[in-house]
Amino acid sequence: MQKKDVKWGEIGFGYIKTDKRYVCNYRNGSWDRGGLIEDADIVMSECAGVLQYSQSVFEGLKAYTTEDGHIVCFRPDLNADRMYNSALRLEMPPFDREKFVQAVVEVVKANAAWVPPYGYGATLYIRPYMFGISPVIGVKPADDYQFRIFTTPVGAYFKGGAKPIAIKVSDFDRAAPRGTGNIKAGLNYAMSLHAIVTAHNEGYSENIYLDPATRTKIEETGGANAIFVDADGNLVVPKSDSILPSITRRSIVYVAQNYLGIKVTEREVLLSEVGNFREMGLCGTAAVISPVARINDHDNIISFADNQVKMGPVLQKLYDTLTGIQMGRIEAPEGWVKVIE
Ligand SMILES: *Cc1c(COP(=O)(O)O)cnc(C)c1O
Repeated sequence: MQKKDVKWGEIGFGYIKTDKRYVCNYRNGSWDRGGLIEDADIVMSECAGVLQYSQSVFEGLKAYTTEDGHIVCFRPDLNADRMYNSALRLEMPPFDREKFVQAVVEVVKANAAWVPPYGYGATLYIRPYMFGISPVIGVKPADDYQFRIFTTPVGAYFKGGAKPIAIKVSDFDRAAPRGTGNIKAGLNYAMSLHAIVTAHNEGYSENIYLDPATRTKIEETGGANAIFVDADGNLVVPKSDSILPSITRRSIVYVAQNYLGIKVTEREVLLSEVGNFREMGLCGTAAVISPVARINDHDNIISFADNQVKMGPVLQKLYDTLTGIQMGRIEAPEGWVKVIE
């Protein structure tokens, strides 16, 4: 197959239109068959539920080329499960999980020429999403929905190695205690935009959010879960019902326990204790792990000793093992790597 004429080493994280997208419609109480189309534009009512009351959920995963030349993606069944749960929380008809994985396979196959070749660190980002499309003016769920998946090639997250970042304790909250923090919904991002723009203007890469009820515990950043390494080299993972269950973070926990023999504790983590940790990482599909050099909590600066110039040794080992599994250099647990072609 002839790959597209793209400078794979130079692209960033932006939208590049690819050839095909997957669409499935929910009308009169059921999902239709669904299939691939070419038209990238959506026409909908001016009163569509998604436009008026933000009834939308999404997912994010990547397809990439392994060392031996296969196109694969990583644990798409977990994206299917998570989107199923996100939909239920927003009163949307959940999308069948097997059909979700099948749709991912179909849309990636149809855009195989856009999957970056091995060696650039670039990937084909896959964006499944679903929204209320029928008119809604009184506050209630829409009657009709659309599920779509588009793909777009994205560059390596870190060009020339991961540089530890500085983040700040946000003065804004991300997710209410019994709110929507644990689902992947656009509304969680809409309300984080002011906070992230503020953080960027102040020179920080990201916000770390605290639990809104007490503002003493670490939750996560706007788009990545936090993990810590203590002085004994053990992994400590914040636990809260309002943290989004990151697939990367759950995979790292498994790798720590089953591949590296690292002890993992999942528990509430107080802001006041994070100064005792030696490494902090942010986990998500995009970067896998980003090392954090310091957290600024107003006048108080919390530094992570082993993350000052580069990713600390424990996070690096986790990163190397997980990316080795993803790229096919290390044997994967059953079902983790879905071969597309
Ligand atoms: C998507 C997301 C993550 C990362 O999840 P992955 O499944 O690892 O990509 C973390 N936090 C939030 C708030 C997210 O939306």
